[in-house]
Amino acid sequence: MLIGHQRIWDFLTQSAAKNRLAHAYLFVGPAQIGKKTLAAEFAKWLLCQQKKNNSACGVCRSCLDIAKNQHPDLFILSPKQEEKKGVVKTFEIGIGEIKTLRRHLSLFPYSAKYKIAVIDEVGSLTREAINSFLKTLEEPGQNTLIILISSSWQFILPTIISRCQLIKFLPVKEQKLAVGLKKIGKKEGDILKIIKLAAGRPGQAINLLENPEILAGQQAGIDSFKKTLKADLAWRWDLAKELSQNLAVAQETLSQWSLWLRDRLLEASGCEHLLVGSRAETKISYPVKNLLAIIKEVQRTQDILSNSSFNSRLALEVLMMKI
Ligand SMILES: [Zn+2]
Repeated sequence: MLIGHQRIWDFLTQSAAKNRLAHAYLFVGPAQIGKKTLAAEFAKWLLCQQKKNNSACGVCRSCLDIAKNQHPDLFILSPKQEEKKGVVKTFEIGIGEIKTLRRHLSLFPYSAKYKIAVIDEVGSLTREAINSFLKTLEEPGQNTLIILISSSWQFILPTIISRCQLIKFLPVKEQKLAVGLKKIGKKEGDILKIIKLAAGRPGQAINLLENPEILAGQQAGIDSFKKTLKADLAWRWDLAKELSQNLAVAQETLSQWSLWLRDRLLEASGCEHLLVGSRAETKISYPVKNLLAIIKEVQRTQDILSNSSFNSRLALEVLMMKI
């Protein structure tokens, strides 16, 4: 279920209604914010045989095929993941998988007007895979719709960006998150607290509701940042070592830091009405320029961590020295 992002939904559905869809879109925004959900919901709406104005019917052949992941006109490509001892390893998307995708797009639509491909995450493509995929982006077939998803700008080639229409995903407001969570009938747990910690990301809010143990870790993530700002280098390096042992946890911790810092930046700029989380309990004395520099460093580290060829511990140690 899609929570928030109504503006993007309206833009895409209205473009389709007017027959003005681009061949390729690039969805960019933080992890768990709703990019993949929106792509899947939009594909479902587009392929639905009995769609109402703003939603897919959910009962036609096409909707049922999508629910079973078996729609012949929809191809979703995600990097393979493997979990060992709590550490999740994500593999790159190789040329073989891109060739399968290209074959899918070269066929005529089976039962709908469009042939759709979704790639989640485009930053996971190997160089060889990107080169092969660029040909598809340069010469898209008729009625082809490609949706690329990325949590970061860092590793997307300009040649890909220039061939896509960009769609930026911004954090969803707390009120909208609350309405969405109530709609899906989630009553357990402390919803208010979860909304604060999810920091505008519906996927993360649902994740936290369903997994209380992650919820405890989230609060620890923000607390660790406040502690880091006051801690000495030895403490910081211990934290870098600990985080480097589980990159999924490290990424989530840095996301929390980044969103918390964003709110402090908004407070410092007098834009408190735009806060995603709560106000700071104690006033933060950082000037705007420093807050911006720290956010950039945190996000740069996240980008580095998302690329398996870099030394993650070194990247985290550098971050600890700079904040
Ligand atoms: Zn339908």
